[in-house]
Amino acid sequence: DSTSFAVRVAPLGGTGLVLVLAEDQTERRRVEAVRRDFVANISHELKTPVGALSLLAETVADASDDPEAVRRFTGRMQQEAARLTSVIQDLITLSRIQGAEPLAEPDEVDLGSVVDEALDAVRMAADSKEIELVSGGAPDTVVMGDEGMLVTAMRNLVANAVSYSPERTRVSVTIETTDRTVDISVADQGIGIPQQDLERIFERFYRVDGARSRATGGTGLGLAIVKHIMTHHRGEVTVWSKEGSGSTFTLRLPRPERPERKRSADITHR
Ligand code: ADP
Repeated sequence: DSTSFAVRVAPLGGTGLVLVLAEDQTERRRVEAVRRDFVANISHELKTPVGALSLLAETVADASDDPEAVRRFTGRMQQEAARLTSVIQDLITLSRIQGAEPLAEPDEVDLGSVVDEALDAVRMAADSKEIELVSGGAPDTVVMGDEGMLVTAMRNLVANAVSYSPERTRVSVTIETTDRTVDISVADQGIGIPQQDLERIFERFYRVDGARSRATGGTGLGLAIVKHIMTHHRGEVTVWSKEGSGSTFTLRLPRPERPERKRSADITHR
C-alpha cells in the first residue's frame, strides 16, 4: 500500500519562516473506503427484501383466484418484511451506540436477569432445534452499565450460538468473576469459525459464508453491535473457536469498585 501525504504550507506572519504540515492521507482514505462499503452494504441489505417484496406483490396480484398461492406468497411477504424490520432495527441500534463515549452514569445491573432475558428471547428458536440452553456460574453478580444494552449484547451472542449450531446440541452461558473483571461466556457446540475469519467477524456486515449466514436470517450487524456495546462499557469481547466443534464468545466487563449488592456463595462453579 502506498502512503500519501497532503502537504500544507503556511507562512508564519512576518518571520520569513514557513510552516510545512504533512498530513497522512492513507488513514483518511481507508476510513472513507470503509464508509463507502458500509453505505453500499446498507443499500444492498435494504434493496434485497424490498425487491423481493415488490415481486411477491406482483405475483399475489396475478394469483388472486388461487387462495392457496395467495396464502403462500403473503407468508413470504411477511418474512421479507420481518427481515427488513430487523435490518433497520440493527442499523438504528448501531448508529446510536457507534462512537459513543463510555457510559457517564451507569446503573447497577444484575447479570443473572440479563442472561435470563437473553435466553428467554431465543428459547423458541432453541426448542425448535432441540438445543439445550443452560446457564451457570455466579448469577448474582452485579456490574455497572446499561441493562438494555447488555441484554442486546447477550441476546445477539446467544441468538448466534443457536443459529450456528446443529440440532440436539447445547448452548451454555457462564458468569465468572476474577479480581478485576466479570466474564460472561456463551459457548456452543456449533459449526465454528475458520481461523482466518476470526478477526473480521466483528466488522459491520462481515459474514463467514455470506449465503449460509444470510439463510440463518441474521443481519451481519449483531457482533458489530456487541463490540460497540462493550467499548461503551469499558469492556471487551473475545472469541475462541474451532471449526466443526464450536465457539465461545466472552464479554469481559470491569468489576464494580463498590461492594456487590449480593454475593454468590459459589463463584467457582463451572
Ligand atoms: P449475522 O447476523 O450474520 O449472524 P453477526 O455479526 O452476528 O452477523 O456475526 C457475523 C458472522 O460471524 C456470522 O455471519 C457468522 O458467519 C459468524 N458467527 C457469529 N457467531 C457465530 C457462532 N456462534 N458460530 C459460528 N459462526 C458464528
